[in-house]
Amino acid sequence: MLKTVLTIAGSDPTGGAGIQADIKTMTAIGVYGAAAITCITVQNSFGVSRVEPLHPALVSEQIEAVLADHQVTHIKIGMIGTAAIARAISLKLQVFDGEVIFDPVLLSTTGQQLMAPEDLDRARADLLPKITVLTPNLPELEKLTGMTAHNQDEISAAVCSLFSGSKRLKGVLVKGGHAKNGTVVTDSMYYSLAGGKVESEALTHSFLKTVNSHGTGCTLASAFAAFHALGGDYSSAFRQAVFFVQKLLRQSVTARVVSNPKGKGGLLHHLACEKNSEL
Ligand code: PLP
Repeated sequence: MLKTVLTIAGSDPTGGAGIQADIKTMTAIGVYGAAAITCITVQNSFGVSRVEPLHPALVSEQIEAVLADHQVTHIKIGMIGTAAIARAISLKLQVFDGEVIFDPVLLSTTGQQLMAPEDLDRARADLLPKITVLTPNLPELEKLTGMTAHNQDEISAAVCSLFSGSKRLKGVLVKGGHAKNGTVVTDSMYYSLAGGKVESEALTHSFLKTVNSHGTGCTLASAFAAFHALGGDYSSAFRQAVFFVQKLLRQSVTARVVSNPKGKGGLLHHLACEKNSEL
């Protein structure tokens, strides 16, 4: 039976982030993508005007429907919205023993909060014990751990605190795009090994200046899930996912997706489909 990768995330009507970016990414990479929606957002590159979290039972039922009918090997979680939805998801994850990749989305690209800080604490307590791979950016790593992550030592210490808080957590992919060092970006992957050992590897690439960066985090986490579902280990999924996003960013540099002169458009995932053989 064909494998399915299930994303549990918010809907972005512009197609740049959330569920829409996840499904585009999975399709471009060549895995079957399914989607359970947590929240409907109303947004474009000018901002988020409304967030409507779905009833937690409706989120559970969507997950149940997919799990009952598909061979889901990987679940990718993005925007959750509320602590009640996080609880509903965590109950469904109790009977799921595959990979659970969590991209802890807190802010929209335009800077609006997508999860209240008080909900984050409860969501973290319910969800973290069920996660196998976390994909925070630097601000999310700081929020999740309550620690600063301004340099490599601080980032490592924060990641180690996550590993020591959860036995199931095996990998943390730290997205370096928010670091303030100008010309280069370093994405790092940390691995929790037997005996409490932690190893890491890093990929450094030049910072690509583009207006089409909306949904980059969702795309990287979904690409990691998709490449891992295709086979290979965490390390190869990490490398392939980073290269995939780099390639999309390069292909998106010159295109204008939104009319807002100050707005950020989404990545052009469909270009990856055309050139899939080169990825
Ligand atoms: N999910 C939704 C529904 C969003 O609206 C956003 C950002 O606006 C995200 C996730 C996170 O986007 P990014 O991948 O740019 O971090």
